[in-house]
Amino acid sequence: MQSAAATVARAREIFDNGTTRPLAWRLEQLGSLRRMLIERRREFAAALGADLGKHETEAQLTEIGFVTAEAAHLEKHLAAWLRPRPVSVPLAVQPAKAWTELTPLGVVLVIGPWNYPLQLLLAPLAGALAAGNTVVLKPSEHAPATSAALARWVPEFLPEAVRVVEGGIPETTELLALRFDHIFFTGGEAAAKVVLRAAAEHLTPVTLELGGKSPAYVDASTDLAKAAKRLAWGRFMNAGQTCVAPDYVLATEEVLVSLQRELVKAIRALFGEDSARSESYGRIVNDKHFDRLAALADGSTVVHGGGRDAASRHFAPTLLRPAPGDSVMGEEIFGPLLPLVPVSGMDEAIRVINAAAKPLALYVFSNDAGTRRAFSERTSSGALCFDVPAAHLTVPGLPFGGVGNSGMGAYHGEHSLRTFSHERSTLSKPLRPDTLELIYPPYTKTKDRIISTLVAPAGKRGKKSGKTAGKKTGT
Ligand code: NAD
Repeated sequence: MQSAAATVARAREIFDNGTTRPLAWRLEQLGSLRRMLIERRREFAAALGADLGKHETEAQLTEIGFVTAEAAHLEKHLAAWLRPRPVSVPLAVQPAKAWTELTPLGVVLVIGPWNYPLQLLLAPLAGALAAGNTVVLKPSEHAPATSAALARWVPEFLPEAVRVVEGGIPETTELLALRFDHIFFTGGEAAAKVVLRAAAEHLTPVTLELGGKSPAYVDASTDLAKAAKRLAWGRFMNAGQTCVAPDYVLATEEVLVSLQRELVKAIRALFGEDSARSESYGRIVNDKHFDRLAALADGSTVVHGGGRDAASRHFAPTLLRPAPGDSVMGEEIFGPLLPLVPVSGMDEAIRVINAAAKPLALYVFSNDAGTRRAFSERTSSGALCFDVPAAHLTVPGLPFGGVGNSGMGAYHGEHSLRTFSHERSTLSKPLRPDTLELIYPPYTKTKDRIISTLVAPAGKRGKKSGKTAGKKTGT
């Protein structure tokens, strides 16, 4: 097996020899990525089933088909997005032409988590390839079947510019000691800090796609049955192990009473009377997370569900009524527990949300225009969705990313291309006529007049207070 250093050196060699720059090459890579997902769909679906008990249909919806669509979207628009963008030139610099161009960064490291182990490694890969980079992929060691499938098939379909390095903390640490041109990390806060520190050593730019607690607010103006179905779908998909899943629900006590009843109905509609027997319901990734979730549920008040089986790592969709201070409200749940938290109304909900770390997503179920506006004006979150959880990911025109503790940077569609590119400024000014002669030293009164009026305006002088209203010009 190649060392991490040799792997990265090879990736750099391929980037440096110009292989990845032509548009045709990039389109071919995106096509190969799609072909891999179509031709090896069964193998990837089986791996996702082995790692997370994911139903084949859910694997197609949220992982395999998701990346196929992302690659196709990039393929369709890439030529247009790569076109140089002209920029107007101020009079003082004319005659000249200015434009920006998206240029590749070099060697990109993508580090993935275990919960959507294929999507969250390959969707960034599509963006990095579209931008003309070479890529080192580090899948999560906690989804070993998917990691093995990627290590098996990626080199076959993308043999030139993509390398897969399997492993856990030691292997990632080894990679992080090396110089990359961009690091794209999806995972938790603790590992994100390790990545950011390592990146600082080389001044490598990073994108951090993190998690946290994404709240949902529900009020009486909405259709509670429909809202409950959508909340249950968003929360319990992938057995709750979704970064953008609604983490807890805020509503008045009156709304919560009805909503709880509707959530129970929705859970039954989605996964039957016994979720252990539903093929559509996933499993907890490993014993450590299973035990963590069991402790969270046991440390709070279960009002529905709570059933579990350690051997199969089945954990039933569970509704909680937490007391202040319950651990379940102190950390990202990342599992099939949904706390229902009473508030006096919209204002208190906004206060609760703003008192916590900025969420990756915020969900509002309300038909009231004033309520919707209040959430958009008075809160901050990676995304804000009305009446639907998680679906913003599937709109390729929307940048996907967090803010504050939920992450930095964003991707998907054109935003991916921009994340993995440098937007280079280019200026071309003919040597003749040489208008710069007008500002070269030695300075004279005429040159002062030209500079103060045309190049770096001093503004109008001498009105009442004598203050200048001149525009600031940089150098
Ligand atoms: P994690 O941070 O434990 O692991 C992510 C990756 O980092 C893995 O590949 C792992 O091998 C590596 N890693 C872990 N610790 C490391 C260390 N000390 N040094 C070097 N590398 C290290 O995250 P996870 O448990 O796989 O995923 C769960 C978290 O990811 C949750 O917080 C969730 O919200 C978040 N997440 C975010 C998104 C998003 O798109 N924003 C998507 C999925 C998951």
